[in-house]
Order: sequence, then structure tokens, then C-alpha cells
Amino acid sequence: MSLLKLLLTIGLIYAVWFAFKNRTRIAAAHKTVVDDKAREAAQARTQAAAEAAARPPGMPVAQDLLPCPKCGAYIAVGTTCSCQKA
Ligand SMILES: [Zn+2]
Repeated sequence: MSLLKLLLTIGLIYAVWFAFKNRTRIAAAHKTVVDDKAREAAQARTQAAAEAAARPPGMPVAQDLLPCPKCGAYIAVGTTCSCQKA
């Protein structure tokens, strides 16, 4: 009876230790995923801020296009078509 209690106690200690070991491993993996997501979000924020800074204030994001009178290709307003440069 005493040996059975000893074995059960050892088994219980092993179970608790095993659960704790797995818990720390899961927590470490979770932390890695969270850190990766945070890094990606920061990178996207930095990129968006850089794109916003590169654009002059008040300038719209979209560009109006007009067909070239000579060749009909759509070009941005205020620029000359490549067919007129030649
Ligand atoms: Zn043209």
C-alpha cells in the first residue's frame, strides 16, 4: 500500500512537471507568433507612413488619366505621352 502511494505521488509530480514543461513551451511559441505579428504590423505602419510622407500634402492618391490625342493610350494628366517624345 505504501509503495502504491509512493508511485502515485511520483506519477503526480511527473504529471505536474510535464504539464508545466508543455505550458512554458506553448507560451514561448505563442510569444514568438505575437512578436512576429507585432513586427509585421510595425513594418506595415512604417511603410504606410513613408508612402504618406513621399506624397505631397493635398495631392490625391488616385491619378486622373486622359487618352492621348495621337495614339489613344491613357496617360496621367500633366505628362506627355511617349509617342510625342519621339
Ligand atoms: Zn500617345
